Formats: sequence, C-alpha cells, structure tokens
Amino acid sequence: MNSTSDKQSLKSIYCRICHEDGNTEELIDPCECSGTVGLIHTGCLEKWLTTSNSAQCEICKYAFSIKKKDKPLTQSIWQWWLSTSGNGPQGICGDLFCFVILTPLCVAATYLCAVGASTYTRNGFWEGTGLFILCFMLVATYSLWFIVTIRFHYKSWRDWCNRNQDVKLLVKHRVMTNDVPPESENNTTSRHVNMMDHYDNSTLNPFFIRFLTRFGYPFHEINQTTWV
Ligand SMILES: [Zn+2]
Ligand SMILES: [Zn+2]
Repeated sequence: MNSTSDKQSLKSIYCRICHEDGNTEELIDPCECSGTVGLIHTGCLEKWLTTSNSAQCEICKYAFSIKKKDKPLTQSIWQWWLSTSGNGPQGICGDLFCFVILTPLCVAATYLCAVGASTYTRNGFWEGTGLFILCFMLVATYSLWFIVTIRFHYKSWRDWCNRNQDVKLLVKHRVMTNDVPPESENNTTSRHVNMMDHYDNSTLNPFFIRFLTRFGYPFHEINQTTWV
C-alpha cells in the first residue's frame, strides 16, 4: 500500500486549506507534509502558490514542480485595476483626470499658438518665432508627461502580472527516494551479460569461460569442444 492510500485511510481526510473532503476534487499529497496537513486540493494549492508567489511548501519547504504563465490580457488588466495592493494602479484616476483635462487644453493652445505664429510672422520675425517656440514647448511638455505616465503604469501592470501568474502543478504526488525499486537479481544478471558482451569470447581462456559459466554467465555461443 502506498503512502497516498495510507493517508486516505485516516478518519479525517480533508484539504488543509479549504477543509473540504475529496468528493468534489481529488485530494493529493504533493509534498513531504503528513498527517492532517498532508492532503490538499490541486486547485487550492495552485491558488495558494499564485497568491503567495511561491514555488515551495510553506511548512516542509518541498519544492513543487510547477509551470507559470501570464493571465489573459483583459483579465490581467481588470484584476490589476481592481487590485488594492502596492502593485495596483497607483494614482491612475488622477492621471486619467489630467489626461481628460489637459489633452483638449493642449490641442487648443497648440492650435492657437500655431495660428498666431503664422500671423505674427508676417509682421515681425521675433514675434512669430516666439510663438512657434511656445507651441513646441507645449507639445513637448505634454508628450513628456504622457510618455512618463504611460510608462509608469505599464511597468506597474507588468510587475503585477509577474507576481500574479497562473500556476499549474505538474507533479501531483511527491517523489519518494525510496520509491525506486531495488535492482532485481535478473537486472543484475542482465547487467553482467551486457558487460561481458564487450569481451571477445575467442580471446578468453576456456578454463576461465568454464569457471564463469558455473556462476551463470551465458557463454552458449562458445564452441564446447574447445574447452576440453
Ligand atoms: Zn481545498
Ligand atoms: Zn509540505
């Protein structure tokens, strides 16, 4: 009987996270914990590993075999938007408000400056040039603010995605070192046979071959008449 069956035979069998039994989902023993904390649902463990951003058991420190992947784009943006943790959207409402207010103001001011610059250029060089420079500074300042703000929130979203990747558990039952079966006698024999296959039988002493044959080495291909 393996270790999983031993655990299943315990009177109280439940998931150590949600405390539900194995009727809705199979209980697994993915780490070296035993007793009442030895069993867990796959879904509960994957949620915990996703939330904790960890790849090992928090009790026995067993390293799980897992695979991580990003959430779907829309789902990750929505969950990042709703996140209240430090990796959530910091100050994005204020930035959106500024975007709504500043964008039309900047467009209107740039347009007026451009029209004024073209008009004043006919009257004098410096008036028109000053307005062109003012127009350029308006566009440059707005663009700089826009790029810095977008980059800040993009980095915040990517950090959130990296910390909240979906975790898939690859190995659901722990690998015990003593689960490896000991070498059987047949395996040992076959290994010796393979080893002796490297020898050229014709070069072996017949008495040595007879000696080995008594201990079970198959030298059937040797001509028996050469031994006598
Ligand atoms: Zn559970
Ligand atoms: Zn454990």
